[in-house]
Parts: sequence; structure tokens; C-alpha cells
Amino acid sequence: MVIGGIEAGGTKMVCAVGDEAGNLSDRMTVLTGTPEDTLPRMIRYFKEKKVEALGIGCFGPLDLDRKSPGYGSITSTPKPGWAGCEILKVFREALSVPVGLDTDVNGAVLGEVLLGAAKDCDTAVYLTIGTGAGVGVYCNGALLHGLVHPEAGHLLIGRKSGDSFPGVCPFHENCLEGLASGPALEKRWGRPAAELFAREEVWELEAYYLAQAVSNYILAYSPQKVILWGGVMHQTQLFGLVRAKVRELLNGYVRHPALEEELDGYIVPPGLGDNAGIIGAIQLGRLAAERMNG
Ligand code: ADP
Ligand code: ZN
Repeated sequence: MVIGGIEAGGTKMVCAVGDEAGNLSDRMTVLTGTPEDTLPRMIRYFKEKKVEALGIGCFGPLDLDRKSPGYGSITSTPKPGWAGCEILKVFREALSVPVGLDTDVNGAVLGEVLLGAAKDCDTAVYLTIGTGAGVGVYCNGALLHGLVHPEAGHLLIGRKSGDSFPGVCPFHENCLEGLASGPALEKRWGRPAAELFAREEVWELEAYYLAQAVSNYILAYSPQKVILWGGVMHQTQLFGLVRAKVRELLNGYVRHPALEEELDGYIVPPGLGDNAGIIGAIQLGRLAAERMNG
């Protein structure tokens, strides 16, 4: 089956074509302009590729409540033109194929559960820490939604004593995104995160905040795998630091070998690497087609 996928982000839209098994045959990126200039280019691409289904992993917040009149739309984003965009309907009508939509991070966790590092897990968490922080949750064999959808990138965490950095989240004084995203690192330390590699204190503090979030995900969701990625986690020295702090924070309370001698295989980068999001989006398309066919 020829399946299209979109990883829809605030700065760029990655479009790709692939199959059920996670093989990618083509890819194209467009910068995210207004919907009026961005959507037609993507539609043209998928028409040319003759896709039979499409999956979209999209920045949020999204209305994913199938009973809601706004189902399938982007709700309250500040990105010019995109608030209220009925992205699901636009592609469904333009392509006349089944279209699946979920958050970008739910797409990524789905990709990892089906084809990546969380293969065969019933419950897994995917945290991306980049321009923002976002969390996809796969819970008991399905992507987790609810009132809206999890927003665990804004998990409220405790500040390290003496840390008076105001944070970069306009909503929260002490959430993960505000204290530990790429822009937070840059504002706190005065240089782009990628240039801070040699500064040990940067990554010690970063790991302290990431580990709090990860510990809380472990306590709340009991995932069988925790996947961390996004631009900031390209500082792969963070993995060891985060694991050590998670062990410290949980302090032996949750008893399982995964949290003790197997921790290196429990808090991991995505098996699909930077393709987790786009391969997951294609899987959203496959699932939409399967739903359609009964
Ligand atoms: P997005 O979140 O927009 O999808 P990314 O996941 O690439 O994109 O995140 C971009 C953020 O990650 C930027 O704030 C950037 O400073 C940071 N970043 C990118 N590469 C690195 C790196 N090698 N080390 C640390 N931070 C990085
Ligand atoms: Zn926040």
C-alpha cells in the first residue's frame, strides 16, 4: 500500500511516502507558511504520489474528540493562520483517501511501538525535547487521548534550589518546556544549546529537570519503555545523566529489573532515530485505512 505521512511542525512540514512495514520511498519538506500556501503544495505532492491513505502527526493543540464538531482541527495555536484549520477535512476532501490525525508525539510513539525501540510494548512514553517539549503516550495498546490529549511536556516540576531563571513558557513558571527546552537552554546560558556541549553544569541541570519529568511519567503511566529524543537529546551524554538521576529520584520505590540493572535499555533514544515521527505518521495513515475497511 502507498501511504503518505506528514510530520507537521511549526517551522517545517515533512512529507513522505512509504509502506506498512516502515520503508520510506520518498520525502519532501516544505517550510510552514500560512495554510493557504502550505496545504496546496502538500496536496499536490500526495496526489502525484498516488497515496492510498495519509497519516498526519501534527503540532497541537488538536481537537481529537471524534464526537466534537471541531474534530480533526488545530485549535488554539499562535501560528498565523493555523488556529481553527480543519487539517483532517482538508486532506480527506482533497485526496479522497482515509486520513488519520494525531499529535506529532503520539505519531512518534506509535512508530516506536510498532517498528522501533518500544516494539511489543503495551505502554510506552515518547518525550521530545527540542523547540518545545512534547510527550506522546501509548497506553494499554492505544494512543492516549482524553479530555484533550496529554500535554506532559508542560509537566510542572520542582526547581533546583537557587535556580532563579524565569523560564520561557508564557503559561507556567516551572514547567519542563519552560525550564529545559532548547530555547530555555539558550536563554539561560546565552548560547545555542548545541554550542554548550563542553559545559558540564549545563547538562547536570538539564538532566535534573528531565529526570524529574521522566520519573513522573514512570510513576503515572508505568511505561515499559521511555524514549527520549528531539534536538536537545542529540547531546547523547544526557542519557546516562538522566538514567542516574531517575534511579536516584525513584529511590527504589518502583520495583522492576527495567529500573535497576536494565535501565540502559529502558530509557533510550528512538530505534527509528529522526524518522520516528514520519514513520509514525505513515502508521497513522495505515490505521485510518484499516478503520475504513472495517
Ligand atoms: P523541533 O522541536 O522544532 O521539531 P528539534 O527537535 O530539532 O526541532 O529542536 C530544536 C531545538 O533543539 C533548538 O532549540 C536547538 O537549540 C536544539 N538543538 C538542536 N540540535 C542540538 C544539539 N546538537 N544539542 C543541543 N541542542 C540542540
Ligand atoms: Zn508550560
